[in-house]
Amino acid sequence: MKKVRVVYDRERCISAVTCVHLNPENWVMNRKDAKADLKGSKKEGDKWILETEMTRYLQMAAEQCPAQVIEVYDLKTGKKLF
Ligand code: SF4
Repeated sequence: MKKVRVVYDRERCISAVTCVHLNPENWVMNRKDAKADLKGSKKEGDKWILETEMTRYLQMAAEQCPAQVIEVYDLKTGKKLF
């Protein structure tokens, strides 16, 4: 399976919960501020980063986030996938 780097701009999350519904393996709502957390991610600058395996559900979350704050890059080439 393809390895990817997920870049999540949490500041701009609008709490739509779409990512959690589509891809609960990677996303969970944070009860404190009602924004989504990217499970296992680390903060780099103002973004949250996770290196993981690409899945259909992760793709759906990135594509369907209404705020477009989830980006997915090929870990090997650095090319933006979604
Ligand atoms: S789908 Fe996008 S805007 Fe909605 S909770 Fe997830 S990251 Fe935030």
